[in-house]
Amino acid sequence: MPRERGKGMGLFGRFMVGLTKCLPRFFVAGVARRYVAGKDVESAVRVMKKLSKEGACFTIDVLGEEISTLDEAQFFIDEYDRVLAAIVENDLDANLSIKPTAFGLLIDEKRAYENIERLLSNAAKNGIFVRLDMEDHRVTQATIDIVLSMHSKGFKNVGTVLQSRLFRTSDDITSMCEKLGPGADFRICKGVYLEDGSISHTDYQPIVDALKNDIDLMLDKGAYVGIASHDYPIINHALSALEKRGMGSGKSDPRSDAAEIRKGKGAGYEFQMLLGVRGNIRRKLSKEGHRTRVYIPYGLRWYEYSMRRLDENPDVATHIVKSLLMPWTNRR
Ligand code: FAD
Repeated sequence: MPRERGKGMGLFGRFMVGLTKCLPRFFVAGVARRYVAGKDVESAVRVMKKLSKEGACFTIDVLGEEISTLDEAQFFIDEYDRVLAAIVENDLDANLSIKPTAFGLLIDEKRAYENIERLLSNAAKNGIFVRLDMEDHRVTQATIDIVLSMHSKGFKNVGTVLQSRLFRTSDDITSMCEKLGPGADFRICKGVYLEDGSISHTDYQPIVDALKNDIDLMLDKGAYVGIASHDYPIINHALSALEKRGMGSGKSDPRSDAAEIRKGKGAGYEFQMLLGVRGNIRRKLSKEGHRTRVYIPYGLRWYEYSMRRLDENPDVATHIVKSLLMPWTNRR
């Protein structure tokens, strides 16, 4: 894979975020179409059917997060039930990604646990895995605790995301692996929420270095690792880290402390990418025989979702502008 340098686009990103907010909604819709599968589950199914021809598997996200009343959680419960039905009906190689705050985590923890447990139970009937996306630092521990609690209740079809920008992440990996053993199943990423310097790395290189270390640590602890990055140094590192451990395309997982291959999973690892981002790398990895999963967001609240993502991390705006002006840097 080529290497890439030159980060730190914050100011330009902030300018672009301001500008985007002034643009008419239809224009933003045109841009968002690339990154959001559509308004309903049927649109998401159409996108997945197309991408499965490129060897991809999927994780499906119903757009939306932090709710203000528990009634709103019902929308997500019902919609994810529809997603489960669509996966089964269309025989898709797909699992779910959910945001715990959309299930009420910041309003009523007990109800959020009940809502999530119900979803896990429905998903487990068809051997479908549920990934808890990681939101901002307010819910890091609470999200980890949900996974630990659900495993202790016997649900093995659940795992979370850890964010390498947070200082705590390597400790979280170690302690979760100790508690879950071969059941530890992570997505590891940089983290999209720009957290305070007192709890997180804030510059590009330390984040990349931390992410490389976290991938190594997860692999050495026998965990299942979803490598979620479009960044060449990370992907290159992951490929050589796998090779060093006798893992990779066409190989079974040689780690004695790792889980058996489960339905919908690879041999100890997979690559994960966002819909619309660097499809050329994804297709290349897939062609080489690596399991590649595309994150498929859909839903009515695409505008609010896109604006929140831009506010949280203005670099996203820079990536989007770059891919519009220099399409060769990011092929769909
Ligand atoms: P970057 O250096 O940011 O990106 C590398 C290159 O990829 C860029 O130069 C650009 O060309 C392209 N690119 C990256 N992002 C975009 C974009 N949005 N639009 C257009 N081009 C882009 N973060 C969380 O905090 N919690 C989560 O639960 C979570 N889940 C994720 C799930 C998946 C499958 C992926 C891929 C990411 C997820 N993230 C999550 C986001 C992640 O933390 C990073 O913010 C994001 O992936 C960008 O980091 P990068 O490693 O791709 O590197």
